Amino acid sequence: MMIAVFAFSVNHAIYVILQPMSVYIAIDIGGTHLRAATYPPNSFTPIEVTRIFTQSINATPLQRLIGLIEDIWPVNDPVLGIGVAVPGPTDPFQGIVLECPNIPGWENLELKRILEERFNVPVVLGNDANLAALAEWRYGAGQGHHHLLYFTVSTGIGSGVIIDNRLLLGARGLAAELGHVTIMENGPRCGCGGCGHLESVASGTGIIHWVEEQLTNGAVSSLANEKPITGSMISRAAIAGDELAIAALARSGKYMGIALANYLHIFNPTAVVIGGGVSQSGDYLLKPLHESLHKHILHPSYLDNLVIITAIFGDEAGLVGALALVEANFPE
Ligand SMILES: [Zn+2]
Repeated sequence: MMIAVFAFSVNHAIYVILQPMSVYIAIDIGGTHLRAATYPPNSFTPIEVTRIFTQSINATPLQRLIGLIEDIWPVNDPVLGIGVAVPGPTDPFQGIVLECPNIPGWENLELKRILEERFNVPVVLGNDANLAALAEWRYGAGQGHHHLLYFTVSTGIGSGVIIDNRLLLGARGLAAELGHVTIMENGPRCGCGGCGHLESVASGTGIIHWVEEQLTNGAVSSLANEKPITGSMISRAAIAGDELAIAALARSGKYMGIALANYLHIFNPTAVVIGGGVSQSGDYLLKPLHESLHKHILHPSYLDNLVIITAIFGDEAGLVGALALVEANFPE
C-alpha cells in the first residue's frame, strides 16, 4: 500500500493518520511479454512492476492481460486510471486495437471498453512508439521542449511527434509514422510490405540487408564469414576500422539526415530524440546524419536551438509512456 502520513499532536500525544494514496496503472503490451506497473501521481518511479509471457496454452492474451491487472491491483489505494501501450495501429479515440501483428486475433479489439467494464476505472490506449515520444517529453530527454520528434531505430523505426506540448494523433490516431515515408524509389522491401521506406533503408534491418547485399556482390570485409550478421557486429566492425561496416552506418545516417530535413520542414521542432539499438552506433551514424541534414535543410534557422539527443528510456519507454498518457488524460 502507498500511504500518505499525517502526524499531529493533541495533549502531548502524537496521532498518526495513514491515508491511501491514488495510483496509476501502466500496461505495456508486447508480443513476448505483458508488463504492468503502478505509479504514484507525478512520478515515473514505479511502486511495483511485474511481467508475464503474453502467450500461454491455458489462456488467451486478453485473459492473461486481465489477470495481470488483477494481480497488480492495489489492495487499498484507489486507481485513477489505466494507460495501455499497444504495439500496433490503435484508435486512441475509440480505444480500439486495430491490429497487433505479434498477437494473432487482436483485430478491431475494443480493449478500452473491455477493461473499463471489468475494472470500472477510465482506460486510455496509445500506440507504443507514440507513447515513447510522450515518455521522453514528460519525463525523459525531451523535458522542457514544446515541439519534439522521437525515433526509435532498431529492427524497425518507430516514431512519435509532440507539437505544442500535445501528442500528434491525426484523425484516427494513425499520424506520425515517420519510418514509413518513401525515401528511395524501388528501394528495399519494408517490414510493412512497402518499398523504399526510411525503415527499410536506415533501420538495423536495412543496414544488415545492405551489408549482406554488398558481401554477395564481392565486397571485402571482416564480416564476410559471419552468419547471421547482427547490428552490434556491424557496430563493432566499424569501430575496428572495417570499411564496409563504416559505409553501412554512414549510408543509414545519410538517409536519416535526408528524412530528418523533411521532418524539420514540416514540424519545426526544437528536439529530436533518438532511441533504439542503432542510436548506439555513435558518430559512425550521427556524423553522416548531421552532414546530410545540413545539406538538405531549407534554411539554417531550422537548426537554431535544435538538439539531437539520445533517448533515456529503453525497454521501459512503453510503460512510462502509458503512464504519461493516463496521467495527462486523468489528472489527480
Ligand atoms: Zn514501411
